[in-house]
Amino acid sequence: MEGSLADVEGLALPKILSEVIATRPEELLWCVEKIAAAGGGAWLVGGAVRQGMIGKQPNDWDLAVDLEPEQMLEIFPNALATGVRYGTVTLRRGEYLFEATTLRGEGPYGDGRRPDSVSYSKSLAADLARRDFTFNAMAVDLVRELLHDPFEGRIDLANQRLRAVGDPVHRLGEDGLRIMRAYRFLDLGGGILCKPDLSLEKALVTKQYMIDNVSKERVWDEFRRILSGDSVGMIVRRMAGDGLLNRILPGSWHSAESCIAAQRHPCLNGIEVEARLALLLKESEYDSIEEGLRALKMSNAQIATTLTLRRRLGTTPLDQPAGILRRYRAVLGESMVTQLNIDRALANAFDDSREAEFDDFITRISDLPILTAGDKSLVDGLWLMDFTGMPQGRRLGRLKEWIHLLQVERDLGDISEIESLLCTLIWQHGDELSWPRLAWP
Ligand code: ATP
Ligand code: MG
Repeated sequence: MEGSLADVEGLALPKILSEVIATRPEELLWCVEKIAAAGGGAWLVGGAVRQGMIGKQPNDWDLAVDLEPEQMLEIFPNALATGVRYGTVTLRRGEYLFEATTLRGEGPYGDGRRPDSVSYSKSLAADLARRDFTFNAMAVDLVRELLHDPFEGRIDLANQRLRAVGDPVHRLGEDGLRIMRAYRFLDLGGGILCKPDLSLEKALVTKQYMIDNVSKERVWDEFRRILSGDSVGMIVRRMAGDGLLNRILPGSWHSAESCIAAQRHPCLNGIEVEARLALLLKESEYDSIEEGLRALKMSNAQIATTLTLRRRLGTTPLDQPAGILRRYRAVLGESMVTQLNIDRALANAFDDSREAEFDDFITRISDLPILTAGDKSLVDGLWLMDFTGMPQGRRLGRLKEWIHLLQVERDLGDISEIESLLCTLIWQHGDELSWPRLAWP
């Protein structure tokens, strides 16, 4: 059983693609053959073909099928009706999930984001024509081993060119999300960078207002993916130059230094997106950043992390004595490594000679023994009330914080040392709000 034949010309699979396709799970072929046995056709589409063409392992194996969702659910009783409204069901076989979307033509786009109506179709050609970029509009017939590439996405890939399917002004005018996607696909991963062709480059500016039709969640989702890529510096500079960044996150975005730093910051530790964002926001007013991040509908945790990293940018106590290092380490805790990484990336953006300073600092702070009494305060409020005769209240609380700071800085190990310390502090008078506390910076 070979299944339906496409209404587009088929080419022999290029070698690189064929090698990646050979790694497809058997479960995928099982699904495709089941569809063929029912008289349907199924093609591998989207990211899997694009990545296969550059020799990258696909993230997911998505299918386009010419059977309608109801038929698919009959053939695959255990499939999930995940997006039946848009023609998508999720097939389950073994440990695998495959999204299968019915071929479709689309009605007009009334809201600037989604088509008003979708109609199922039997035409692969029509389905590929509604896709956004040429290298996303390729399909593979897995049984006959053919590549369908009516818009010559393979040639654009070879030339590292990002080109819209059809007229970019029209296509970006249909769906504003394609603008964010365009910037994302400038970096295809694996060191392959693209340039938009001239007409797309212009349309990205003239149709930029279309981004306002896209939900903030979707914008952030795409932006997040851009921030976690290897070429964040290049993409963000183009977004800033085109004026798009200011539209999605108002602020100051012209610092080449922070773009380079963001690009150099390693993507290793799980909060790289926040770290890079903090770097990119280096020039922006602190107060307006928070508002902007909230408008993007980032989670509270992401916002808090970004703001803290941003506030501490450039505060690494490089030449300070051990006491200050103890304080820095105690306050930053687990975020210290990330903070050090972004500070280092920023310091080195134009000037590698600062590597040594940071190496030196890292050696010093790694060699610093852990605190004798641990991170917690040796004394509690009751003890302090008893010792000083001070009543409960803000003043007592601030004195406790002051003592804790000195305990950390001087690495005090027992209560008798705290008692001697208290004899040297002037806590009986003065404004308690001016007393130092364990904080950074
Ligand atoms: P990745 O999975 O890495 O994000 P992808 O290309 O698979 O890349 P998806 O969002 O999974 O991206 O979409 C699958 C395919 O659907 C795309 O390759 C493209 O052909 C089409 N597509 C997705 N979003 C749009 C859109 N907004 N406009 C037109 N076509 C789209
Ligand atoms: Mg995909």
